[in-house]
Amino acid sequence: MKICCIVGARPQFVKVAALTRKIKSSPLIIHTGQHYEENMSSVFFDEMQIPKPKYHLEIGGLPQGAMTGKMIEEIEKVFFKEKPDCVIVFGDTNSTLAGAIAASKLHIPIGHVEAGLRSYNRKMPEEINRVLTDHCSDLLFTPTQVASQTLIDEGIDPEKIHHVGDIMYDIALFYQEQIGNEKEKTDYVLATIHRAENTDDPDRLRNIFEQLVDLSKGMQVKIPLHPRTKLALKKIDLLDTCQRALHVMDPLGYLDMIRLESNAKLIITDSGGVQKEAFFFKVPCITMRTETEWIELVERGFNKLVSPYEKIDMMDVYHEMTNRRYQWDVPLYGNGTAADQIIGLLTVRDGRRR
Ligand code: UDP
Repeated sequence: MKICCIVGARPQFVKVAALTRKIKSSPLIIHTGQHYEENMSSVFFDEMQIPKPKYHLEIGGLPQGAMTGKMIEEIEKVFFKEKPDCVIVFGDTNSTLAGAIAASKLHIPIGHVEAGLRSYNRKMPEEINRVLTDHCSDLLFTPTQVASQTLIDEGIDPEKIHHVGDIMYDIALFYQEQIGNEKEKTDYVLATIHRAENTDDPDRLRNIFEQLVDLSKGMQVKIPLHPRTKLALKKIDLLDTCQRALHVMDPLGYLDMIRLESNAKLIITDSGGVQKEAFFFKVPCITMRTETEWIELVERGFNKLVSPYEKIDMMDVYHEMTNRRYQWDVPLYGNGTAADQIIGLLTVRDGRRR
């Protein structure tokens, strides 16, 4: 079975790493080039031993429509040439949507990993990507029962929906063993901010970073800075202030990142993946958004939503979150075998087609 995986952005490198570890014959990988910097892309391929992409489309840095359109065109060319038996897309980026559209037009079966998530905020480009990808996929691999139910409620045939758990949990468990459990000596908060809805709105961005700077007066704040956020901070003249007050770092490789996550007292983020990793590593989390797709974390108190418009005392929230009592041992995201289950389901489906 010729499996083609489409990736392009950082969270997809992490997810594809979990899958390719379990595929015996090397899958065909198409890298769209959405993220192209060394520390946003190749570091993950090297460190996590992801097979080299056979095709690198180098489509980055374009507006939403142009980027997605160009990706569809170029991915289709590869499909004509390679004739894959199935296509796997991950998450919710433009690469996800482009891969799904290109495959659906050629009637190539599509598997969507991390299907059924919703923020119900249609202003987010990711939300449109998720909804459309789900509705043209043939196998929908969901991380939670809630996600499966969402798809059923949207009228998707239940036979296509497979609750396999979260693939990021597989990989977090695998690498957790390798990072050891050496504790950092100083307490710190780890922050990541990169969602377009936060970086593209100067008021929101300023509010978030002024609060982080405030927090840093009482607590070290470490932040590996996404290139988009760095640029946006520069534009509003806040980068220098942040660099003086916060421990600003370049984006990190996965192992360094999860090491920092697992040793943090608190994580502040707007990332989808980092919200879950906080839970995997038993660290309370604040999400700087008005809503989240990972609602079960908020409902159970592991995560707290803080509106990026709100002026709050971050130190108060820090104390509130670090003093709470947590019941970490709930299997919210499956048992760490999502990749095995996905491959099993693909194999059975392929056997039926032949
Ligand atoms: N990540 C990383 N280095 C960093 C920041 C994040 O390795 O400097 C990892 C993080 O541990 C998680 C993934 O990237 O596995 C999340 O990606 P991102 O936050 O870019 O996207 P999202 O999950 O919001 O779609």
